[in-house]
Amino acid sequence: MQTPDYQRLDRAHHLHPFTDFKALGEEGSRIIERGEGVYIIDSEGNRILDGMAGLWCVNLGYGREELVEAAAAQMRQLPYYNNFFKTTHPPAVKLAETLCRLAPGHLNRVFFTGSGSEANDTVLRMVRRYWALKGQPEKQWVIGRENAYHGSTVAGLSLGGMAPMHAQGGPLVPKIAHVRQPWWFGEGRSEGQDPEAFGRDCAAALEAKILELGEENVAAFIAEPVQGAGGAIIPPASYWPAVKAVLAKYDILLVADEVICGFGRLGEWFGSVHYGLEPDLMPIAKGLSSGYLPIGGVLVGDRVADTLIEEGGEFFHGFTYSGHPTCAAVALKNLELMEAEGVVERVRDDLGPYLAQRWQALGAHPLVGEARSLGLIGALELIDPATGERFDESLAVGNLCRDLCFASGLVMRSVGDTMIISPPLVITHAEIDELVDKARAALDATLARLADTLTE
Ligand code: PMP
Repeated sequence: MQTPDYQRLDRAHHLHPFTDFKALGEEGSRIIERGEGVYIIDSEGNRILDGMAGLWCVNLGYGREELVEAAAAQMRQLPYYNNFFKTTHPPAVKLAETLCRLAPGHLNRVFFTGSGSEANDTVLRMVRRYWALKGQPEKQWVIGRENAYHGSTVAGLSLGGMAPMHAQGGPLVPKIAHVRQPWWFGEGRSEGQDPEAFGRDCAAALEAKILELGEENVAAFIAEPVQGAGGAIIPPASYWPAVKAVLAKYDILLVADEVICGFGRLGEWFGSVHYGLEPDLMPIAKGLSSGYLPIGGVLVGDRVADTLIEEGGEFFHGFTYSGHPTCAAVALKNLELMEAEGVVERVRDDLGPYLAQRWQALGAHPLVGEARSLGLIGALELIDPATGERFDESLAVGNLCRDLCFASGLVMRSVGDTMIISPPLVITHAEIDELVDKARAALDATLARLADTLTE
């Protein structure tokens, strides 16, 4: 089949996630056929640097034979069996042990799921169950953040704070509230605050919400250490210590959504380690298997696990694919490779600092109001060079820049007018140079296109 054949069949039969079906039908999809290292190759033979590691997940890059072998060997041995009804299998047991060894010391248990969304559904069930078992069944409210992403299931989208998703979601899961996000460039800057004062204000907003709802009614606070889908939002240094202090003052669980930040993205095994958080629960997915097969889970701290185990009786929750043996075998091999190759340390000590230095330089581009990065996650905030302010939304400058990027051989994603990257963790210095050069070229092309539009 040729590209137009795929596009025709795609248009006729395939409803894509997070897509305007009609608009895509008119434009046609890009057909990605192969992956090699940090590159994807489309059906026209174009080689594109994948600056997003798929959807923040292909941490070891494409084409790792060891992962293919791990899947094939496990499928020959036992392609599927479940962990319900008093059974388990070696891959699930070994993966659970490895994860708990890599996670901070108080996280000694894991509940497996098929995805990050299912992990957050599990979180909601677990925190409410925990407080019920503690004799405080009224502690049901969960506080999340505006513009956070925690998944696309009904619980995931309710915990998340994506306004367009809420608008389509029908009645959301009750007793979930949201507080402001620590996005200084988008919100603090326009209020004329310095970043650190803004970070503390965001933590104060959490405290105010706890007091409004009543501490005795609040079960948990959920947040990504660095917001990913919201726009690679790296909070001001003051934010997490202030949030930790608020949570310590009240008896409220902390859930750190590590679906993006986990497995080396921020230069530690978990984002919580980078920020010194001590979360009670950590949902994980994506980088757990480098995206080669779908698997997620929730790492559970002793405080919650001990109660669920000692006092809980049966927990009526689980998925057919919880701890799927083939997915677990691939995840285990992925973690073994990451350890053996020192991937996490390299992000922390070498690649992260190198990207930061190259990426910061883009901050001098006339279209860029802020360039930020941490580990191997980064963002550029686009601004109108004439005013230093945001462009009018109707110009969709971020999308224009994204499309120009793709056309020139780089996947960089746009969230409004925030451009974001999250490349595979095995990227080399030369490939970082290529990424930054292509990003700069796309910024130049965007500026040129805007000049044409604005003078027309
Ligand atoms: N949490 C976070 C922080 C995520 O970024 C995502 C996915 N982008 C999810 C949860 C949901 O994961 P999934 O798409 O695997 O359901």
